[in-house]
Amino acid sequence: MNAINMRDEPLVYELSRNGRVGCSLPKADVPSYELPSELARAELDLPELDELTVVRHFTRLSQKNYSIDTEFYPLGSCTMKYNPKINESAASNPGWKYLHPLVEETQAQGALELMYKLQRVLCEIGGFEAASLQPAAGAHGELSGVLMIRAALAHRGERTRRKMLIPDSAHGTNPASCTMGGFTTQTIPSGPDGNIDMAALRAALDDSVAGIMITNPNTLGLFERNIVEICDLVHRAGGYVYGDGANMNALTGIFKPGNSGIDVMHFNLHKTFSTPHGGGGPGAGMVAAGAALAPYLPGPIAVEHAGNYRLTMPEKSIGRVKSFYGNFGVLVRAYTYLLMTGADGLRRVAENAVLNANYLKARLSDLYPVPYARRCMHEFVARGNIAEGVHTLDIAKRLIDYGFHPPTVYFPLIVPEALMIEPTETESKETLDLFIEAMRSIAAEAGSRPELLHEAPHHAPVARLDEVMAARCPILCYKG
Ligand SMILES: *Cc1c(COP(=O)(O)O)cnc(C)c1O
Repeated sequence: MNAINMRDEPLVYELSRNGRVGCSLPKADVPSYELPSELARAELDLPELDELTVVRHFTRLSQKNYSIDTEFYPLGSCTMKYNPKINESAASNPGWKYLHPLVEETQAQGALELMYKLQRVLCEIGGFEAASLQPAAGAHGELSGVLMIRAALAHRGERTRRKMLIPDSAHGTNPASCTMGGFTTQTIPSGPDGNIDMAALRAALDDSVAGIMITNPNTLGLFERNIVEICDLVHRAGGYVYGDGANMNALTGIFKPGNSGIDVMHFNLHKTFSTPHGGGGPGAGMVAAGAALAPYLPGPIAVEHAGNYRLTMPEKSIGRVKSFYGNFGVLVRAYTYLLMTGADGLRRVAENAVLNANYLKARLSDLYPVPYARRCMHEFVARGNIAEGVHTLDIAKRLIDYGFHPPTVYFPLIVPEALMIEPTETESKETLDLFIEAMRSIAAEAGSRPELLHEAPHHAPVARLDEVMAARCPILCYKG
């Protein structure tokens, strides 16, 4: 085990000492058993450490992490909002935590009731008929929805419809999910207002179209103003409309996507309805559908009859997409968040998400050009190449010195040097003002002392990493 100290220069040293022990095992209360020799290893190359050294090592590492519980985290698209601690206390209730997934339905009525009510609340928020809580993430919800469209087309005897339309502002998971689901994709360009180019859409609608995948508000943070007409055109061409619901925190309590004609949509419970998700999960990408696709939902889903709850497979279900019942702990967190926030609160969530983003945009757009000058929704996209030789990456790295997590950079792809900023609804005006001050100071530095930006971050445990090496050749296991 290696350790890096808290001073500026990393001091790497081996902590293991032969014979140190940090745990004690209870006396065995079962007969001992000789393992077959091919399973047992004589030498196991593990570090030998006392408990205190291990605690200090991991505590030190955790302090190097950036987290929403310590600082502002304005990642665009990801909705890094505050996660109320009451969610954690609800999810760690032993009645939820220790419930065995194979228990009889009659002994899991509380869990089934929670699942049923969560399905109903989310259908109400989104304007849908039925929902499945199975998918474990947004992208998993996308794949489920795409497979539902595929099954519905097969049911209609139209197996040659294999073209999915995807706007050029889409999240990368959209084309990936289509491809995994056996479709080909065609990119639809955005027009000068940042919305789908309607002429290009019309031209793409032929009898090979299976559907369209749409994010609303889109990843430029702009409301898709022609959403009703888009759904109508795609339906008339014989296709279905998939809604990417990752940006629902701009809409809750104000606009129901199902009512605009979207056939199937995922909610990122871990974005819109809280749950910590930095670092990769766990999440929940529950998928909801209108009348046309509801019979194809993955299952099982929870249903209610005369006050009793049970699980059932939708009539023409695509089947299971996950073992057991989804990421149940995340479902408890989302339901707790929904009950605590209430209907009026959910509307205020959307209003404040939009207000906060527009406030940042108004206070930054004189220094950081915003290519689509319309009023934004819960996020906006600016450009970071604000001075000679200064790039978005330099702005992002310098922000770390000011104590802020950088926004999303170089996405969406249609804006060169993109800085995609989402403050979320949970940040105070004081925090937003500090961020604005930092961004304005950095803009001044970009003109006067650009080398400060090029060499940033100056005060982080690690500076500019080789991201390709980290992704391609990760070192994941201990080598003594
Ligand atoms: C986050 C996100 C996704 C993918 O969701 P995951 O839960 O990360 O799989 C898809 N589309 C958009 C617009 C997103 O922001």
